[in-house]
Amino acid sequence: MSFYLHGVHLPHRKKTSDMEPVRMSAPQKIVLPMSMHIGAPAVPCVKAGDHVDIGTLVGSQSGYVSSPIYSSVSGTVKKIDDILLSSGKPCPAVIVESDGLMTFDQNIAPPEMNGYEDLIAAVKASGVVGLGGAGFPTHVKLDVKDISKIQELIINGAECEPYITSDTRTMIDKAHEIENAISIFEKFLGVKKTIIGIEENKKKAIAKMREIAQRNPRVEVKVLPGVYPQGGEKVLVYHTTGKVIPAGKLPLDVGCIVCNCTTMAAISNFIKTGIPLVNKCVTVDGSAVKEPKNVIVPIGTPISDVFEFCGGFSEEPQKVLYGGPMMGISVPDTSLPVLKNTNALLAFGEKEAKRPQSTQCIHCGLCVSHCPVSLSPVGIAKAYKSGNAEALAKLRVDICMECGCCSYVCPAKRPLVETNKMSKTLLREYMDAQKAKEGAK
Ligand code: SF4
Ligand code: SF4
Repeated sequence: MSFYLHGVHLPHRKKTSDMEPVRMSAPQKIVLPMSMHIGAPAVPCVKAGDHVDIGTLVGSQSGYVSSPIYSSVSGTVKKIDDILLSSGKPCPAVIVESDGLMTFDQNIAPPEMNGYEDLIAAVKASGVVGLGGAGFPTHVKLDVKDISKIQELIINGAECEPYITSDTRTMIDKAHEIENAISIFEKFLGVKKTIIGIEENKKKAIAKMREIAQRNPRVEVKVLPGVYPQGGEKVLVYHTTGKVIPAGKLPLDVGCIVCNCTTMAAISNFIKTGIPLVNKCVTVDGSAVKEPKNVIVPIGTPISDVFEFCGGFSEEPQKVLYGGPMMGISVPDTSLPVLKNTNALLAFGEKEAKRPQSTQCIHCGLCVSHCPVSLSPVGIAKAYKSGNAEALAKLRVDICMECGCCSYVCPAKRPLVETNKMSKTLLREYMDAQKAKEGAK
């Protein structure tokens, strides 16, 4: 069986790829949810009335898989309040009123770098998480203990969702930061080989990354087919190294560390300047946006301010997304903020937002033949309908990466990816109940 050779060809719609990011001015206020990453939420460490600057710690990391949060403006903490995230979950947030001065915290200083432990501490302190969208704390990913296990560092430059070009811009505009991060990883993580994976449709980014490879013989640029989801971790590792990551295993289990290109640039910036993650380059696009752009946004800026910066809406948006049209998360309220892992804000008018009518499955098998991890979405839907958690476990719904390829190719427009998400919840609940039963014995 061939692995990860499926997927779909999507229209790229990357009209912002030639647009150099424009920096937004200071927003009037920022909203910093304590959960902008996978893992334990940060804990607010400021109170109403406190003065903060850019780079002042406002949320402390609260566990191993967690990440600190810093103010992206100077101003005054107004309050700590619960907000509803796009998932519908409440989360404490630090709300800062900007003084418009954008002054930096005086304690900012580059970290001392003498070895592996310093690298992990620096990445932890930087507040950097997976900036391609995953939001997984990067220091945890790099905390390998036995660095001799690392055979390859894979830099993810495969920005495969339509519209999004923020990573492409990082590769074009911040190639020097990526190059510096590679040197840091070589020095402190013992990386001997780096492969930068980029899709063939990003010619300028490929040229920039090849310049790095010309200067550093340990770096290779791998040009990949423009197939979605090329940027999925397992898909990328397979297409850059030929290695298959078994179900339930991590890239490190096959000797790889995968890091998004913007994540690499952010790590380099922190080690050079000591300025933690406070800004994010965001692609703003979609049929309802008047002036699509790449924008450098202070993290925590309300989404409505970012759209306004892009000329506002040409029509009332019917759908607003954090991220791309395939894996993006619906934004219920544009007062919600830009998060650390927000790579795009898309707004669509009525025509694009309309959901197609779903009809009966015609058993064509297209969802199976296009799944990049060889699952059977049609079988999963059947098992879910009958509430059969054991069948869902056998069908390995747990490894579904929710890429949406199955829904995209389905001629009957079945809501397969939504069913997969619900199936994963059903399976988790079943497994938890089984564990509780075992424990009670
Ligand atoms: S959403 Fe899941 S089941 Fe559907 S194609 Fe992607 S990985 Fe396969
Ligand atoms: S692609 Fe749609 S119609 Fe075809 S088998 Fe899958 S669910 Fe059924």
